[in-house]
Amino acid sequence: MTVIGAGIVGVCCALHLQREGFKVRLVEKGEPGMKTSFGNSGSFGTASCVPFALPGVLKKVPGMLLDSESPLKLRWSHVPKALPFFLRLVEASRPSRVEAIAAARNSLLVHTHAGYAPLIEGADAAQWVDHNGLMMVFESEAAFEGAAYALDLRRRNGVHMDILDGNEARQMEPALARSVIKAVSLPDVSRTIDPFRLTSALVQDFRRRGGEIVTAEVRGFAIGSEGPTKLLTDGAPIDVEQVVLAAGVWSRPLARQLGTSVPLEAERGYHVMFAPQDFGLKRALVSADRSVSLAHMHEGIRATGVAEFAAPDAPADMRIADRVMRHARALVPGLRGEPVSRWMGPRPSHPDSKPVIGRSPRHRNVFFAFGHDHLGLTMAGITGKLVAELATGQPTTVDLAPFRPDRF
Ligand SMILES: Cc1cc2nc3c(=O)[nH]c(=O)nc-3n(C[C@H](O)[C@H](O)[C@H](O)COP(=O)(O)OP(=O)(O)OC[C@H]3O[C@@H](n4cnc5c(N)ncnc54)[C@H](O)[C@@H]3O)c2cc1C
Repeated sequence: MTVIGAGIVGVCCALHLQREGFKVRLVEKGEPGMKTSFGNSGSFGTASCVPFALPGVLKKVPGMLLDSESPLKLRWSHVPKALPFFLRLVEASRPSRVEAIAAARNSLLVHTHAGYAPLIEGADAAQWVDHNGLMMVFESEAAFEGAAYALDLRRRNGVHMDILDGNEARQMEPALARSVIKAVSLPDVSRTIDPFRLTSALVQDFRRRGGEIVTAEVRGFAIGSEGPTKLLTDGAPIDVEQVVLAAGVWSRPLARQLGTSVPLEAERGYHVMFAPQDFGLKRALVSADRSVSLAHMHEGIRATGVAEFAAPDAPADMRIADRVMRHARALVPGLRGEPVSRWMGPRPSHPDSKPVIGRSPRHRNVFFAFGHDHLGLTMAGITGKLVAELATGQPTTVDLAPFRPDRF
């Protein structure tokens, strides 16, 4: 079995396939775990059933795109390419679709732990996981009221939440600004304190179990009567029997070559890292007003945010990272020093906020596992488990109909 892409999704697929007895090879063009899976916020977002497009998005998006301070960005050169995505996004924001999408996302999220537990245990990687919860914070009544629908959607999908006032929030997180007047505590959310080190520990375990990593860029396929027989790469061709395509946002052109068109776009997020501070943040913090998240990581405090639609490999615009930095400082005024690093990663996003997980409609020996948008870290474990179930012909733990590759 050959898995294309060694981000967190490909690595989890590879490990679950090994557990089912497959001899697995990972083909990766760069370093494992160094693309989008490197610099995310680290949350296992089990409370994040809420999709990107909510009712009313059509009214909000144009204004947001024109506002230079907004967390939503679209490069003008990218407009023609992204237009079909945005049209589908608006369609996905109808209330009945939103309810169905949230339920589908939640059907994966409830298996987050089951998907990861054997992998984390097998790799002895529990040191990279923290169980202190997450807090959403609000600096105005209007923002809190604006979140009512999304909070209710979470509640209806079984998420446990405690509503707090500003003082209660600061008792739990003393570093928070005085401007925070309301908060929602999500005690059951866990996270990794270093997504790259977690992925690296899993990669090391994959190798220890006999897995092979080939450094090559897949550029196409030799297709026989039964499906792909070779990967065409920037080096020598690679013979394959079965293939998992898990190349994050770069899966789109490869899926197309395999006969499946998907409206996958790069929704690029940014982070800034601050050196360790003399105060702690116990939980991950998410600000609705500012669209930034902050969390204490292994090497300091990481602030993340922004959804910039642009080509995945277009140069990063670090002025956007500076916006994240300014909002992080306003939310946690004690943050000292200039960021030690700035980073951009392309989230692989579909307009209906659901990944593609399933067998290729065209080729029986190909499985797809990509498009996990803001939740690829969270959903990687269960995605790998589902791919392994499909490959062995077992009934799947989750109904995969909502994630079909040919749904678009
Ligand atoms: C700022 C930010 C914050 C985020 N926070 C969270 C969070 O808190 N929780 C969460 O669950 N998710 C979060 N995410 C989303 C998460 O990071 C992604 O969904 C996830 O990393 C996607 O993983 P992946 O394996 O699909 O893609 P990637 O990590 O991008 O991996 C794809 C791999 O495929 C390789 N590849 C591509 N093309 C080829 C080719 N042709 N040949 C060979 N190899 C190839 C690439 O080199 C890469 O290593 C966040 C994302 C960002 C940007």
